[in-house]
This record gives sequence, structure tokens and C-alpha cells, in this order.
Amino acid sequence: MTKSSVLITGASTGIGAVYAERFARRGHNLVLVARDKAKLDTLAGRLRQEHGVAVDILPADLTQPDALAAIETRLRDDAQIGILINNAGIAQSGGFAEQTSESIERLIALNITALTRLANAATPRFVQAGEGAIVNISSVVGLAPEFMMSVYGATKAYVLFLSQGLDLELSSRGVYVQAVLPAGTYTEIWERAGIDVTTSPKMMQVDDLVDAALVGFDRREKVTIPPLQNAAHWDTLDGARQALISDIKQDEPAARYKSL
Ligand code: NAP
Repeated sequence: MTKSSVLITGASTGIGAVYAERFARRGHNLVLVARDKAKLDTLAGRLRQEHGVAVDILPADLTQPDALAAIETRLRDDAQIGILINNAGIAQSGGFAEQTSESIERLIALNITALTRLANAATPRFVQAGEGAIVNISSVVGLAPEFMMSVYGATKAYVLFLSQGLDLELSSRGVYVQAVLPAGTYTEIWERAGIDVTTSPKMMQVDDLVDAALVGFDRREKVTIPPLQNAAHWDTLDGARQALISDIKQDEPAARYKSL
């Protein structure tokens, strides 16, 4: 049986490039998306040669409407694509008071709008086929406002929430949705965002991160947090969230709000 093709955004470097290499090694054909055509060409050439897979490159700036629409079209029309790795993302330096409307808009356009639209473009076809996988790269920053990266963290909290919601909507229809939450990982993201990590605590190697994420993928885990040492912490958090939901009474304010 032919393996499905994998469309990976942000595949020119970092986490996306490692996903590309790992899926090529598994014998999947690839569709690689990023802005840097030269880097995509080099990676594609190497993967074709080393792994004998077919690799298409689609240079695109996913913050630009026409480019995003072209990738959506490919996801809608290419019946070979059965796995979407929604990985392209950027971070941002400085605090909220210093950030500009332009940099916030770009961050949201890539981390939220493009990711959501690409998942949406793939979904009807996956549902129709009764199979498919969507991997959304979130971040542990999305769990912790304490990291003081409020807008970036909020986009990653959105990605986690979206993934959990899509899992609830789509798993019964054969579509697997995974949220991956890396912590600090050695890639270009920091330098690109103008964040100096030379004095930061040691971070994870990108190969280790992707290999761990793929262990979660193979287990069909819904939320994969490679740097989380004790999985029980996630279960406790999720259990508390569900207990909170069951304590919400739509028709009545809580007693503590009924008197001064
Ligand atoms: P990276 O090394 O900077 O790679 C980002 C990728 O996204 C590159 O391939 C880049 O390629 C692409 N990209 C950036 N802007 C784009 C745009 N406008 N349109 C299309 N592609 C674009 O970053 P990374 O660390 O691998 O990050 C990958 C994902 O992991 C992101 O979603 C990030 O938020 C998440 N993450 C990273 C870390 C970490 O510590 N590294 C931690 C948690 C989560 P081009 O420049 O060629 O377009």
C-alpha cells in the first residue's frame, strides 16, 4: 500500500526540516512549504537522494493571502496528502508595551490564521476518506503566562485548544489530531525573533524533540509534551479542567456572587 504524502509547513529549517527528514526516512512522499526556496530545494534534493521519496516544494509566505490560498488548494485537491504537519510559526521579542501592531498581526497571521485555515482545508477530504492526521505545533509557553511571552503564548494556547476541539469533533470520523508542545529547542526561531538565548538554561536538541513527538504520534496521543518529565501533571491539569466544566451551572450564579 502506498504511504500517504505529508505536507509540512515551515519545512526549510528547524523542527519542520527534521519532520521532513523523519517522514522521508519512513518512506513518505513530501510536500514542503516555507518562504526560502533555495533551502527547500537543497533539503528536497538531499531527501530524494537519500530516501528515494518524491518531494515537492511549494515556496510560500503563509502570511500572504494568495500564497496561503494556494497551499489550501493543494491540501483540498491532492488526494495523496494524508498528513498535515502545521509547524510554521514565529516568536516575538520584547514585552507587550513594546510590540507593534505590525509584528502582532504577522505573528497571529502565521501562528493562528494560517494554521487554522490549512487544517480546515485538509479536513473535509480527510473526513471523506475516513482517515488522515493533523499535527499542530503548539508550545509549553501556551500553558504558562509566567513565561512573559503573552501574545506568542496566547497563539500557542489557541493551537492547543483548537487541537483538542478538533480531536473531539474529528476522531470519531477517522481523523487523528495531535498537539505537540515543545519547550525551548535549539532552532533559528530565537535569533529570528531577536531573543538572546546564549545565557538561557540548556534547551532540547531539535532531533530529540521531533523523535519524541513522533513517539506520541505513533501512539496516537492527543497532546504530546516532550519536555514534560511526569505525564501525571498533564493528566491532573486536564482532570481539573474537566471537573471545572462539570461544576458550571448555566442557570445560576455561584453562591459567592449572591451577596456582598
Ligand atoms: P525556525 O527554526 O525559525 O523555523 C520556522 C520555520 O517556519 C522555517 O522553516 C521558516 O521558513 C518558516 N516560516 C517562518 N515564517 C514563515 C512564513 N511567513 N510563511 C511560511 N513559512 C514561514 O523555528 P522552529 O523552532 O523550528 O519552530 C517551528 C514551530 O515550533 C513554530 O510553530 C514554533 O512556534 C514552535 N516551537 C518552537 C520552539 C523552540 O524553542 N524552537 C518551542 C516551542 C514551539 P522560511 O523562513 O523559509 O519561511
